[in-house]
Amino acid sequence: MFLAVHATAGALLGSVVVDPATSFSLSFLSHFFLDMIPHGDQYLYDQYKRGDKVNRAVIRVLIDALVTAILVFVLLSTVTFASETGVIAGIIGGLLPDLLVGLFEMFKPKGRRWTGRQLLKFNDLHMRNHVFLIRKFFRGDISSRFGLVVQVLVLGLVVRWLL
Ligand SMILES: [Zn+2]
Repeated sequence: MFLAVHATAGALLGSVVVDPATSFSLSFLSHFFLDMIPHGDQYLYDQYKRGDKVNRAVIRVLIDALVTAILVFVLLSTVTFASETGVIAGIIGGLLPDLLVGLFEMFKPKGRRWTGRQLLKFNDLHMRNHVFLIRKFFRGDISSRFGLVVQVLVLGLVVRWLL
């Protein structure tokens, strides 16, 4: 899902549970549950993996990162949270899985180094989770247009809850 969804979901969890370590862990977990919801980016990801429309995928991630940064900035500067540390820990926990996947994509570790192998394992786990429901219950991902609607809806719900 969009980084914006993961970041705001993390902020929401952080605003409820307050304790930073718990907020971080729950948000990290929430990432996997949110990613399981079919959200229409599997085609784009598969294309990216085949080396097709790579720029499109990169631009999408850059726009998402920018929107996320603005959203986080606006939330932190306008909403009064019980614990800002809890909220920030939640945001970091929610985003961390995709940051690790991003690191994997950037460095494509191949050697026998421990960090590289863990990153590869984590990337596999993340991607298997991503397609788990799609493969099990649906005949492929939903269209990217419908996926956009799903993600904006989830984002809207989370932001609505936060305010
Ligand atoms: Zn993810």
